[in-house]
Amino acid sequence: MEKLKIGVLGATGIVGQNYIKLLQDHPWFQIIDVAASPRSAGKTYEEAVKAKWQMTIDIPESVKDLIVRDVMDFDSIPSDLSFVFSAIVMPTKDQIKEAEFKYAEKGIPVLSNNSAHRWTPDVPMIIGEINHDHVNVIPIQQKKRGFKNGFVAVKPNCSLQSYLTTIYALEQAGYKVEKLIITTLQAVSGAGYPGVPSLDMIDNIVPYIGGEEEKTEKEPTKILGKVGEDGIINDESIQISATCTRVPVIDGHTACVNVKFKDKVPTEEEIKSIWENFRALPQELNLPYAPKKPIIYLNNIDRPQPKKDRDADKGMAVTVGRLRKDTVFDYKFISLSHNTVRGAAGGSILTAELLKEKGFIK
Ligand code: NAP
Repeated sequence: MEKLKIGVLGATGIVGQNYIKLLQDHPWFQIIDVAASPRSAGKTYEEAVKAKWQMTIDIPESVKDLIVRDVMDFDSIPSDLSFVFSAIVMPTKDQIKEAEFKYAEKGIPVLSNNSAHRWTPDVPMIIGEINHDHVNVIPIQQKKRGFKNGFVAVKPNCSLQSYLTTIYALEQAGYKVEKLIITTLQAVSGAGYPGVPSLDMIDNIVPYIGGEEEKTEKEPTKILGKVGEDGIINDESIQISATCTRVPVIDGHTACVNVKFKDKVPTEEEIKSIWENFRALPQELNLPYAPKKPIIYLNNIDRPQPKKDRDADKGMAVTVGRLRKDTVFDYKFISLSHNTVRGAAGGSILTAELLKEKGFIK
């Protein structure tokens, strides 16, 4: 099969570098275009990124010599691009919205990691194992905005990826969840490069991440919602309270979760079995980036740990442990996911694979 030619917007940042790493041997997609700010434009990818390359592999030969484009230079978009991943940061959300819609207008599907379009009702916010049916909002978006082949689809915030699939699996098994208290311990790579200053982070915990608690509490309502006539109709049936903190870990967001069920309460054994056996469309389709088991339960009392567990199944599986009775709610447990893989580049690659299988990307 000839690979689809794709681009990465924001290719020089932390998430962009993860795309470069994760896609180097992808069976379906080949990066032919990299774009970033005017500071990087005109340089080779290697020149633009070498002072801030954070990956544990060398810069792949296949992208080293690509000339970085300015994201906003729409006339230089290669004509044979199938779609782009977007991992750009700009001074305002409106600038990002405009840039991403401009690519869609030019006929290019955009799979974005940025939060700018997460609350645009006709833009789907996808976690492959939970709401792949939300891709059905894409034709509504295209009709409303006059896009022919282009569209924008987004990925949710990285913080909630650590816990939402575990909750969704329980609801799918018939155990309706009523309330959640979430405390996250988030890695420094979540703040991009150069991120939080080292003097603020070493020997410390920062008990505040701007906007993160709101995202952790609200984005699940859209992800768990359903497709309506004009866009996604949110589901607000779970009450969520979140506290988000930054900890001195490089990669891997941990979530401490307290859960209260609405009526029926499963046993511990049932919960573990539901998680162990949970599978969804990405697994049924055997997509290249789908983890074999989206949720892995670890029986060791001191797991999951970021250093040991974040790379589980290519960094795409959520690892869970310490399930026990809660004295106030019903249960509590700890879960973990790799923020720049499952929570960013890897999650979007999985969405792109789904969109290709469903015929939205050609
Ligand atoms: P980052 O390391 O700061 O990278 C930002 C990227 O945007 C760089 O490629 C940068 O290019 C480019 N850029 C900056 N100003 C620009 C401009 N005016 N025009 C065009 N491009 C510009 O950030 P990141 O951590 O990779 O995050 C990227 C996006 O993903 C953000 O929206 C973030 O919220 C989201 N996200 C991040 C994570 C994570 O764990 N890090 C997880 C989920 C979602 P230059 O190198 O040329 O400056």
